[in-house]
Amino acid sequence: QSYKFKEITVVPTAKDFVDIVLSKTQRKTPTQVHPQFKISRIRSFYMRKVKFCQQAFHDRLSSILQEFPKLDDLHPFYADLCNVLYDRDHYKVGLGQVHAVRAIIDNVAKDYVRLLKYADSPYKCKMLKRAALGRMCTAVKKLHASLAYLEEVRQHLARLPSINPTTRTLILTGFPNVGKSSFMNQVTNANVEVQPYAFTTKSLYVGHFDYHYTRWQVIDTPGILDHPLEERNTIEMTAITALANIQATVLYFVDLSEQCGFRLDAQVALFHSLKPLFRNKPLLVILNKMDVRPPDALEPDERALIESMKEGGGVEFLPTSCLTAQGVDNAKNKACELLLTRRVQGKVESKKVDSVLNRLHVTA
Ligand code: GDP
Repeated sequence: QSYKFKEITVVPTAKDFVDIVLSKTQRKTPTQVHPQFKISRIRSFYMRKVKFCQQAFHDRLSSILQEFPKLDDLHPFYADLCNVLYDRDHYKVGLGQVHAVRAIIDNVAKDYVRLLKYADSPYKCKMLKRAALGRMCTAVKKLHASLAYLEEVRQHLARLPSINPTTRTLILTGFPNVGKSSFMNQVTNANVEVQPYAFTTKSLYVGHFDYHYTRWQVIDTPGILDHPLEERNTIEMTAITALANIQATVLYFVDLSEQCGFRLDAQVALFHSLKPLFRNKPLLVILNKMDVRPPDALEPDERALIESMKEGGGVEFLPTSCLTAQGVDNAKNKACELLLTRRVQGKVESKKVDSVLNRLHVTA
C-alpha cells in the first residue's frame, strides 16, 4: 500500500486558476465569428466556449478531489497525524467547498448553454457567454481561502515521514545515548533514511531489514520517545499517539553502564512513564552495553529496580551489546517473533490511547 502524499499536484491560487483557465479557453477556442454566419453556427461557437471553460475548471477541481487523501480511508496512523496537523473539520470543509464549486460551475454552464439556444443575435450570444464565464470565475474566486489552505496542506503532506504503517515494525525507545542507533545500524540494511518529523524540528530514522522473507521497518524517534511524557507539548503527544497506531514491537533500551549519562532509576522511571502508551504492543527491554556492565554485575538494589519493569507482566529482558553485536540478532529475532504471535490480537484503538493520555493530564 502506498501513500502518494508526495505526488499531489500543486494547487494554484484562485487568481492563477482563473487566469489559467480563461487563457486556455481563449487559446483553444479562438473567436472566429462573422456577422454573415448563420445564428446557429454562432450559437454553437459560444456554447463550445462555455463548455470548454466549464470542463477545464471541472477537470482541475476533480483532480484536487481525487489526489487529496480522504481522512476516512487513511490508516489511523496518518489519519491521526492529519487530524492534528490540519484539523479534520477544516480539511473536510476545504475539500467540501471544492466539491460544491465544481457543482456550481457545472450548473452555470448547463444553464447558459440552454439560454444560448434561444439567443437570437450574435451580440446576445456573446453577452451570455461572457456572463457564463464571469459566473464560473466568481465561483472559483470564492475558493480563494480553501485553495490556499489545501496548497499548504499539500506542501506539508509531502514532508510527512515516509513510514508505512502497515509494515511490521520495531520501534526503538529509551534515553539518548543508550544505543538505539547502534542497534539500528546493526540490524538494518546500510541505508537508514532520515525523515524530518513534520511537526517538530526533530527527525525520524527509518531503516529496513528482512525477516522470514518479509520486509520490516525499524523506527527510531529521537526526541519523541526519549524523555518523560509530562514534558511534552500536545503536538509531540499526538506524534506519539500516531505511532501507537502502528503494529510494532517496542524495544525499550536500558544502558546498564549508565555511560549515556542517565542513571538506572531515571531510565526505569522513563520506562514506566512510556509503558501505558504501548500496553497493547509486545514490549521488550534491551539491557544494552553488557560488554561494559553485564546484568550479573548489578547491585541487588539495581536488580530490584530493573525487576520492577516487569510489573504487570508481558515484559521480557534481553541483554545485548550493540558494540560487539552480542545478543543483537537474538533480540531482533525475539522482537519479530513477539509481534508475529501477537498480531492476531489486532491493533491499538486510538481511543484507548487517548484515554491513557487523558489520565496523564498532558497539557500544551
Ligand atoms: P542512541 O542515542 O540511543 O541512538 O545511542 P547511540 O547508538 O548513538 O550510542 C551512544 C554511544 O554508546 C555511542 O558512542 C555508541 O558507540 C555507544 N554504544 C552503543 N551501544 C553500546 C554497547 O553495547 N556497548 C558499548 N560499550 N558502547 C555502546
